[in-house]
Amino acid sequence: MKDPSTHPVKKIVFIVNPISGSGKKSDIAKVIGRYLDASRYSSSVFFTETRGHATRLARDAAEAGANVVVAVGGDGTVNEVGKGIVGTETAIAIIPTGSGNGLARHLRLPLNYRRAIGIINRGKRETIDTATMNGAFFVNVAGVGFDAHVARKFEKAEKRGFLSYFSISTSAYNRYKPKKYTLIIDGITYKRRALMISFANSSQFGNNTTIAPKATLNDGLIDVCILKKLPFWKITLLSPLVFTKQFDKTPYLEIIQGREVIVKRKKGRYIHLDGDPQEEGKTFAVIVHPLSLQVIVP
Ligand SMILES: [Mg+2]
Repeated sequence: MKDPSTHPVKKIVFIVNPISGSGKKSDIAKVIGRYLDASRYSSSVFFTETRGHATRLARDAAEAGANVVVAVGGDGTVNEVGKGIVGTETAIAIIPTGSGNGLARHLRLPLNYRRAIGIINRGKRETIDTATMNGAFFVNVAGVGFDAHVARKFEKAEKRGFLSYFSISTSAYNRYKPKKYTLIIDGITYKRRALMISFANSSQFGNNTTIAPKATLNDGLIDVCILKKLPFWKITLLSPLVFTKQFDKTPYLEIIQGREVIVKRKKGRYIHLDGDPQEEGKTFAVIVHPLSLQVIVP
């Protein structure tokens, strides 16, 4: 028989975004009850109701001494939960139910509930970098330019999921004009005209669309990915390279790593943080916060 004093039951809090991706989350409590190791964890489950709710729930959980907070959702939910527990001893775990699941895919987490809970039962931890843009937290990829523009359009669209995202981006692409940017990366100035610039902590946006093949989550560096606009007919030709992690070998993508990036632009209102569009000024700073978040990994 296990001695409970050497195997204290740890607190785990599940934060579920009921509208992430497609698919129902109403049976999640049942799934947790069935597969979570009750000799290891005592669990509670919360459903988010508004934007920012997951951050408040996660922060409360960390303050109450939770060992693990689980983000059940997409990269937006992971962002909100991460923001609430960054810099604490509480680890984030992910049950990916979003439309892209960028951080989860980078970490090679299973997309299946049962297997994802199995990873949580094992409880292996790693510490990863996070980043901020003008103080606003992100953990996967932030960006400025075309993808922020599309994220904004996608937010307003009624349908979610990859196909909706794909059709929105295709129609917006032809109309979008590349913008001029000045980047100061660790003190060195670069002037570039770009379709978009991504600040990659992990390697991908989600759905295995790899923008920064060499990005790692614990090197203290952000991968600044400067993407030029390529002719529409070349997209079909070159897009497989995004999925085979080779797009950086084309002349359309330049990647510069750094710790601190200052971005200046002449126009444009939107940026995105982990796919969530936000308004931002013409000048902003992206800063890496090395080894600031604990995460449950396979
Ligand atoms: Mg890195």
